[in-house]
Amino acid sequence: MTELIAQESELHVLMREWRRDLHAHPETAFEEHRTAAKVADLLRSFGLQVHTGLAETGVVATLTGNTAGTGMIGLRADMDALNIQELNRFSHCSRHKGKMHGCGHDGHTAMLLGAAKYLAGHRDFAGTVVFIFQPAEEGKAGARLMCEQGLFEQFPVDAVYGMHNWPGLGAGEFAVHQGPVMAAMDLFDIQVTGNGCHAGMPHMGVDPVVVAGQLIGALQGIVSRNLSPLDSGVVSVTQMHGGDAYNVVPDSVTLSGTCRTFCEDVRTQIRQQMATMVEHFCSGYGATGTLDYRAGYPATVNDPEHATLCADIAASLVGNDKVHQNEAPSMGAEDFSFMLKERPGAYIWIGNGSAEDGRGLHNPYYDFNDEILPLGASYWVALVQGSQSVR
Ligand SMILES: [Zn+2]
Ligand SMILES: [Zn+2]
Repeated sequence: MTELIAQESELHVLMREWRRDLHAHPETAFEEHRTAAKVADLLRSFGLQVHTGLAETGVVATLTGNTAGTGMIGLRADMDALNIQELNRFSHCSRHKGKMHGCGHDGHTAMLLGAAKYLAGHRDFAGTVVFIFQPAEEGKAGARLMCEQGLFEQFPVDAVYGMHNWPGLGAGEFAVHQGPVMAAMDLFDIQVTGNGCHAGMPHMGVDPVVVAGQLIGALQGIVSRNLSPLDSGVVSVTQMHGGDAYNVVPDSVTLSGTCRTFCEDVRTQIRQQMATMVEHFCSGYGATGTLDYRAGYPATVNDPEHATLCADIAASLVGNDKVHQNEAPSMGAEDFSFMLKERPGAYIWIGNGSAEDGRGLHNPYYDFNDEILPLGASYWVALVQGSQSVR
């Protein structure tokens, strides 16, 4: 096993300090001002060219190597926290009420900073590395905003890479997917409008509660009866709102929820079939159904050539048997997908250790595993040193 940055080395100790400081001061979408200032200051202190202001709090830094070559690759970390009240009691737990680094973006930021510091002192690589620290991964699409504001026009990388810690995957292990890693995530609201009336005389109106109740079941037929059994999709109705009295049939009911898919064709198919079903199902009962379907994050899909490179790089650090290439993708979503739509690349998982006892992502007891900081930073370094092969 090769590991460029050793456990308990000076750099590991520094990364742990940065990580715990970020953990203690979590900031959410587009408000990562303290975080961004710390990241920018550290990058400048390592000698990198630093650019701020993309997507409000985004920080981008460049570093050029000493060996011959002109390629440019992007490495991305996310910096934002979640709106969760942390329940941990350790000394570095959140100082900000209702906010928490519950997804390990503190660790992602620390690992990429560690890689930047290491590479600034070891310029034996070709081309330019673009370090991308993005805001607002959690639900607010900071990656999309950085792209819209010209990230890849200003920094025309040939490829872009991401990494997320993964509870349930052993510390010291990686997972690399050859295609989809994370799902597309869409949101919907369905309004079922009937005709309110006295609850004792339902025949005098059109009851939207009954229509909406049956529609929930009917919507499940899209995945079970319309999609090919070989395709993946989820339609989850997660909210139902309507009525406010025991003896009144309300005028309307709202159903809300989320759809998850891995491929654009299936995503479009679900959206179209939902629209058709909502309209005709409701009209069959004399009610009116309208669908507001909003596209969220696209699916995160790795380019196979880049995924193979990433798997080889990971294997060079931990050995082939610790790099899992047949893990099922996750139905969670990730806004790195917007970057992968603009540039080829790959997004991999680094094991964070057990997910038991509240150590899963978005759990109020979660904490990033500091033991894996050197491995994650080493992966970035090795990727920079090895990425010539796909340029
Ligand atoms: Zn998250
Ligand atoms: Zn995350």
